[in-house]
Amino acid sequence: MVDLAVIGAGPGGYEAAAYAARLGTSVVLYEKGALGGVCLNVGCIPTKTLLRSARAFSDCREASRYGVQAGDPVLDLGAVQARKREVVSTLGKGVAALLKQSGVTLVREEARIVGRGRIESASGAVDASHILVASGSVPALPPIPGLGDSPAVLDSSGILELTAVPASLVIIGAGVIGLEFACFFAEFGTSVTVVEMLDRIAPVLDAEIARKLQGELRRRKVAFHLSARVTRVDGHAVLFTDAEGREQRLEGEWVLNATGRKPVLEGLGLEAAGVDLGRAGIRVDECGRTNVPGIWACGDCTGRMLLAHSAAREGIVAVNSMFGRPDRMRFGAVPSVVYTHPEVAQVGATEEALRSRGVGYRKAVLPMGVAGRFLVEEAGRSGTVKALVSERRGQVLGVHMIGGSCGEFIAAAAAMVELELCVEDVRQIVFPHPTISEALKEVVLHAGQASPSGGPAGQAG
Ligand code: NAD
Repeated sequence: MVDLAVIGAGPGGYEAAAYAARLGTSVVLYEKGALGGVCLNVGCIPTKTLLRSARAFSDCREASRYGVQAGDPVLDLGAVQARKREVVSTLGKGVAALLKQSGVTLVREEARIVGRGRIESASGAVDASHILVASGSVPALPPIPGLGDSPAVLDSSGILELTAVPASLVIIGAGVIGLEFACFFAEFGTSVTVVEMLDRIAPVLDAEIARKLQGELRRRKVAFHLSARVTRVDGHAVLFTDAEGREQRLEGEWVLNATGRKPVLEGLGLEAAGVDLGRAGIRVDECGRTNVPGIWACGDCTGRMLLAHSAAREGIVAVNSMFGRPDRMRFGAVPSVVYTHPEVAQVGATEEALRSRGVGYRKAVLPMGVAGRFLVEEAGRSGTVKALVSERRGQVLGVHMIGGSCGEFIAAAAAMVELELCVEDVRQIVFPHPTISEALKEVVLHAGQASPSGGPAGQAG
């Protein structure tokens, strides 16, 4: 009998297992594949390693802006891939060491729930007071004829293994995955076309910032077809109906399916255990509880927020809740970053969300260049910071940024949203000078002075 059995060693599962073990509970963690899950092996870490190489490449090309003549850079994709593998391997060893030091029993087998509080794997059954399902997600395959059959179609895992930079790439879906790969390949000279069924890119982003990102990617020669529905894939060809209702055809050396991800729910014994499954994934409350006592879930398999850092926090909230330590998830304060060049970072409500909820707000939008360091670091580039504060109290409701290294200081904005800070609180925080983060403080202070916009006055605090 153990206190906790965890299924899945991605960021949700392994962080929760290590945390619970450090609290003094007995924990067994099951993993059938590589430690670290999608994030470490085929997601966040490998893609960011590739994007770092793309950044080095474009930095060489733009070095003359800083008075340095670097000549024409030459890409060695083999070396880029080797570095990616090395980073992934180092971090994988780090996860193994963390689990060992924390006292987690790791079982490298596939596990399934076989009854209330019982888990089975090849080596036998274990009874557990609590079970945490952290089974993750896989790329979704929408029912587009030909998409699943064409050897030219890759998903976000397959594209990581390319050994040559393609001449052309058609990307289906302008979500975060599609845009990050568009940026990576465009920087190396691939002719990239993105086909998106909505009338805008990156639906999760604030629309004003998403438009700026689209402009930046266009400048890097990424072509976009919006309001375009893919009807069929035929070998290397993607057929779609464009915004005017015309049938169009695009050919790519490769086609990337970036139309979303779906939760891993099969083979876990969830249905037999009576766990309530929704369309997006396992239904849980704000503490990670399912409808079945003793069964909990966190991360992508719940379909709430498909972000590694959210999964990790969700897992810890679930552990605290199962062992009597009050805690809950606040999804509204989870930041997200799109690692394109330029980078995009956001936390809290978008302007569209505030408008649709009828919340009165004040808004400021400033160029990132209000921070001197931006001009130092980002010669010839542009950046934007946007803050949304509540109309009456000036509470920080949302921060949206594009440019510079905004992903590195969005955590400061996340603290403002999480702790419900107001403009006058932010005024008291000292930001280091010179850093680009000073633009964040500046835009929040400006928002406090702005005229009200949005819904009827007095609806926000
Ligand atoms: P997504 O849901 O963010 O975007 C998919 C896009 O594909 C949508 O814009 C959708 O309208 C479009 N689409 C769907 N079907 C289509 C069709 N038939 N034709 C044309 N367009 C179509 O999914 P994703 O980009 O695959 O990412 C999956 C998840 O992983 C997301 O939740 C994302 O936030 C997360 N993720 C996050 C990061 C990050 O935060 N840096 C990185 C990678 C993935």
